[in-house]
Amino acid sequence: MNYFAGIDIGSTAIKIVVIDQDRQIIGNKVVGTGALVFKNAQNAFLALLGEIGLTRQHVSYLTTTGYGRKLFQDADETISEITANAIGAREVGKPFGTIRTIINIGGQDSKGISLDEQGNVTNFAMNDRCAAGTGRFLDMAARNLEIDVTDLGPFHFNAVSTPAAVNATCAVFAESEIIGLLGMGHGREEIVKGIHFSIAKRTIKLVKRVGIEELLYFDGGPALNQGLVAALEDELGRRLVIPPIPQVTTAFGAAIIGLESFQFEKQERQEIAPQVVAVSGGCQSCTCD
Ligand code: ADP
Repeated sequence: MNYFAGIDIGSTAIKIVVIDQDRQIIGNKVVGTGALVFKNAQNAFLALLGEIGLTRQHVSYLTTTGYGRKLFQDADETISEITANAIGAREVGKPFGTIRTIINIGGQDSKGISLDEQGNVTNFAMNDRCAAGTGRFLDMAARNLEIDVTDLGPFHFNAVSTPAAVNATCAVFAESEIIGLLGMGHGREEIVKGIHFSIAKRTIKLVKRVGIEELLYFDGGPALNQGLVAALEDELGRRLVIPPIPQVTTAFGAAIIGLESFQFEKQERQEIAPQVVAVSGGCQSCTCD
């Protein structure tokens, strides 16, 4: 059995997926990116292999993606996160149909990606300049509200009155706005819900630049936040396709690209091999024996 690994080195988290030759996910892991990016990625990769009973030698092809993809020296191939995201979304979206629009929110950026009927990328829009509308914004808000980022969803659904209006278009101003809202007596639940609606509106504005087509799909770490999902669906007026493990789909896409590259190279080797035999065995023009 051959195995393939995809490593997505994001600004906030390193995501690793190992698949078999039938594209089945054998294991996945998410760790913080930290400062020692290569070391952290390498350690997490080896730890995941250990957890699933494999060694580095079992991995036939390793593909890296994400902002830190070039820092991983042991890769067979590096690929842009837009392409890897699209391939991953196409694969996990298959039970629902053809994914045509991807919304991806990461730690420090957000993206809208548009795909054609065959699942090829036709256009994308990215916000990587401003933390508002990204995972970092949610992490900052959670810290200010003294709650865990994983509790943002439950807080959203526990809001009993109107969501607080969070208007700041910049994460730095939003921080003081949140403190101001707390000072005015707003509940943390209403503030969290207000933040989710503010991010949803910004994200939809971005994605509209590439056009919003059905099927509409959402991934990245913040897609684990059901409150944000609800706010996006509310603002869009339609349901989103969310994969079961939305933070690792780009790494999954990278692993699939690796599998396809490996199979392509293998096929090319098989096609070239008989020609080599024919040339060396069938030479009629020289006089040597
Ligand atoms: P990147 O690829 O840029 O590193 P990710 O797609 O890994 O970003 O997303 C990281 C963000 O996901 C974090 O900043 C955090 O806000 C959010 N996140 C991660 N895990 C959870 C969770 N369990 N619940 C809610 N949000 C989460």
